[in-house]
Amino acid sequence: MDTSKIAVFHGAGQPLTLETVPIPTLREGEILVRIEYTTLCRSDLNTFSGRRTEKTPTILGHEIAGTIVAMNPGAPTRDGRGAELQPGCRVTWAIYASNPDSPLARLGIPQKAAGLFKYGHELIRPDSTLHGGLAEYCILRRHTPVIRIDPPLPLPLMTLINCSVATVAGSLRLAGPVAGRNVVIGGAGMLGVIACAMCHCAGAHNIIAADIDAERLAIARKFGAEFTVRLKPDAPPLKETVAALCPDPVTIALDYSGVPATMEGLISLLGIGGTAVFVGATHPERPLQISAEQLIRNVHTLKGLHNYNEQDFIAGVDFMEQNHWRFPFASLIEDKFNLDTVNEAFDCGLKSGAYRVGIRIGRSH
Ligand SMILES: [Zn+2]
Repeated sequence: MDTSKIAVFHGAGQPLTLETVPIPTLREGEILVRIEYTTLCRSDLNTFSGRRTEKTPTILGHEIAGTIVAMNPGAPTRDGRGAELQPGCRVTWAIYASNPDSPLARLGIPQKAAGLFKYGHELIRPDSTLHGGLAEYCILRRHTPVIRIDPPLPLPLMTLINCSVATVAGSLRLAGPVAGRNVVIGGAGMLGVIACAMCHCAGAHNIIAADIDAERLAIARKFGAEFTVRLKPDAPPLKETVAALCPDPVTIALDYSGVPATMEGLISLLGIGGTAVFVGATHPERPLQISAEQLIRNVHTLKGLHNYNEQDFIAGVDFMEQNHWRFPFASLIEDKFNLDTVNEAFDCGLKSGAYRVGIRIGRSH
């Protein structure tokens, strides 16, 4: 165990190449993990296809689960929930590492703090390798939130926590308590269906999912949506359709679609005192058209979220441990690839419409 295979991303339109690099000597506070499973997030697919730009060369993949093989002095001996960490423990970890004493981290936004390190987004340099999920090993830097996950949570489902489930947990934190409230969810992709499931388990009254795709809406129903709305250019305004389905006020709107017209529709249907949380708009898009007068008169709150903090990460782990069996999560993952077939995995993710493509890694499979 002194080398690691890595799948290197060189730029959009180019195949990933498999290379072998030495495993560096761990620095103070670092943990070496043997990766077992990585899922390709939509942002990985967008980087691969050129929709978003990443510094290269890099190792993509930030939805990762693996087993601790070595811990250097200074590494945490307890995880974020107080469980003991030692070699042999199966773990997942947050997308980021940052200084917990920095001003933004103290404000509860460590994912934007100075000196931020993001797994699956870092440049491969001679002194910094093994920081992405498409490799046999990953080194967890100091100040990485780590959680030990014991059976029976299945390995492929563990990877969904980072980043999908934790991000949805963050959006629900910003939305406030959902119990007994009506929630409209824009976008029934991975985050949207997870939001249906989390709102269902949190006791939401009615959950209404909106998307352009009928198949995705059918999946949203399996994850707890009571009602679904098919979004079309010639359809009546979302506000009218939702009012017909659910006469009581909607006071939480969550957007994972990133589509300006959908976000505007969500704001328009919010009842007095409602809160909208926008998560999906991670690409440049046209500005939203919002009436400040309506915002004020309806006492609305608008919030944005990118990534998540440790509290959200832990909430995501708790949710999956307690509730994964209630919903067909495994059916969302195309589970037939490994590091040797990683380029086929990206093609599958881009062409098949699968919610997630999984990559099994390591000797245990
Ligand atoms: Zn992601």
